[in-house]
Amino acid sequence: MLSLIDNPPPWPNGARCAVSFAYDFDAESLLHLYYPSDDVRRRVALAQTLRYGATVAIPRIAKIWNHFGIRQTVFTPGWCLEAYPDAVALLVEGGHEIGHHGWLHERVNQLSREDEEKVMLAGIRAIEKATGKPPVGYRCPSGAFSEHTLDLMVEHGIRYDASLGGYDVPYLIKRPDGRSVVELPHEATADDWNQYVNLPVSGWTMQPRAPADARAVFQADFDAAWEHGGLWTAVWHPFVSGRLARAEEQVRLIEHMQARGDVWFATCAEIAEHVAGLIARNEWTPPEETLPFYDAAVPQIVHPSR
Ligand SMILES: [Zn+2]
Repeated sequence: MLSLIDNPPPWPNGARCAVSFAYDFDAESLLHLYYPSDDVRRRVALAQTLRYGATVAIPRIAKIWNHFGIRQTVFTPGWCLEAYPDAVALLVEGGHEIGHHGWLHERVNQLSREDEEKVMLAGIRAIEKATGKPPVGYRCPSGAFSEHTLDLMVEHGIRYDASLGGYDVPYLIKRPDGRSVVELPHEATADDWNQYVNLPVSGWTMQPRAPADARAVFQADFDAAWEHGGLWTAVWHPFVSGRLARAEEQVRLIEHMQARGDVWFATCAEIAEHVAGLIARNEWTPPEETLPFYDAAVPQIVHPSR
């Protein structure tokens, strides 16, 4: 087939592509974030649905990953680590990576730089406490990447980000002073939220897709990554994709990937480290983006008048 990625990175052992099922384990952080001044005791249904992610789905997902002998990544708000130590211990015991995902799932581009830093530090401390080492990766809750996020990652030792989608392959996001982190990109087609989430109480009312139809979306992206040398990484949520029929589809998707062969299953941290090594040894030149890309809005020469 005509190659559609001009400069794919070399993957370990000649693999065709890299795969990381990266989950966002949010549990009830969303409940506490969205209803801070409400009486959360009366939102029992929402709390139960979100708790399912911690009580049922994380053990199920860990079981699937362990069954296939793969180590993957779970991005987790610091508060969830403290609320659900048993679920976190299961992941850590399986060798899976815990990545930074805020403290209580804050949308950091709604915060001052000072408050965003407070959240960054609280998340780092929670991961250090739960796993014994600081996080190397970050995923911005709700994709709300701010003009300060890259600065804060660089300043606090975060080596990769998994929030953006500027390329098909890993790339560098750079500050004007040249310091950078590795970006592991994804697009909305990698997100299970868009396929399934129906929480009328919170305003998300997608018509849930049949799990096999949702898998077709994920699998098409994987097949293309395999064909052209890209990266396939998910943005899945335990309370969503950990439900029984959807978990079955995850099993089928991994079986499909393994049947294609030459797939490098790895944590996001391992993928970022591999990419950083290629760059350090001059074995691959990544795409780069210097942020912020715009300092101000581009002036408009006309304005809507009616
Ligand atoms: Zn999240």
